[in-house]
Amino acid sequence: MDESLRNIIEQVVRAEIAKDLSELLKECLCVLESKNANKREFISVLNERLTNIGGVHRLDTLLSSNTHILQNVYVHDYKVAPVIYVSHRLISSNKIRDYKVTLHKLIDMFDNEFNEPKTVGLKKDQVNNVLHFLQSEYRIFDIITCKTDLEIFLFNNSHKQFNSFCEVFYDEKEPETYHKRFIFTFASRSEEHDPYQVLIHEIGHALQVALTHQGMMTPDSFIEMNKELDVYLENNTVVSAEVFADIFSVVVMNNSYFAVHNDLIRIFPPEVLDLFKCYFKMLFEYALENKEVLKTKKLDIIWANSGKPPKS
Ligand SMILES: [Zn+2]
Repeated sequence: MDESLRNIIEQVVRAEIAKDLSELLKECLCVLESKNANKREFISVLNERLTNIGGVHRLDTLLSSNTHILQNVYVHDYKVAPVIYVSHRLISSNKIRDYKVTLHKLIDMFDNEFNEPKTVGLKKDQVNNVLHFLQSEYRIFDIITCKTDLEIFLFNNSHKQFNSFCEVFYDEKEPETYHKRFIFTFASRSEEHDPYQVLIHEIGHALQVALTHQGMMTPDSFIEMNKELDVYLENNTVVSAEVFADIFSVVVMNNSYFAVHNDLIRIFPPEVLDLFKCYFKMLFEYALENKEVLKTKKLDIIWANSGKPPKS
């Protein structure tokens, strides 16, 4: 392959900033639109290098001596987050047309949705502390990673619309079940919630998807539990998914050293906090007992009215 094409590929895998990466992806797009280049070879070499980058990073995580690091949860630090995200999106396609479509989407995202950072977000060590806390207190990742790994990307940019989000991928043939979840966190904008609260909120979404296998769906039991507070949510909506993630963050952060980082805890009276805690405790216990089920099917508890767990 032409030296100049190899050079583009090497620059792509070494890019550490979303903006630089976007410019390089535009060069890749030009290659795929030119008449002379061997496009199949270009895609194949680029995919090989991108696969390698992802593999090396995973190996680093697996071999790390840091005992706080969890298996099946990958945290991608600022300098590698853009290229690893790009690798995940690109390596699944070999067809030139699909490749171009994905390149366009990635360029659009980096150019139009990402802003230059004004502050810094959580550092990788801080994220790992959160993961370790949630795992040691609740074994939450035994539930969340039953079916697939969880990947967390720490971007050193702010985002036009979101302080974070959880992206869920499906096979078109199987819309009822996810196969990948990525959490994105961004450097915060001034008006945002605390970054710890934001991260744990997203982990709440990852949990919600692990339990229901669908992007917006919460367990029906959660909708039932809220009725006791005269809150009537409609399931499979943005609102119900957001409430689930928020209440999850309240429950796991309350009475812990992370409590000061959650501005929602103080809006709930103690008896409501107790109800939430009781609900999530039951949900976690049941999911942990039945986690084999979660590999293929969704799972839920039966929540009886009156705020007391049903007798089994
Ligand atoms: Zn959310």
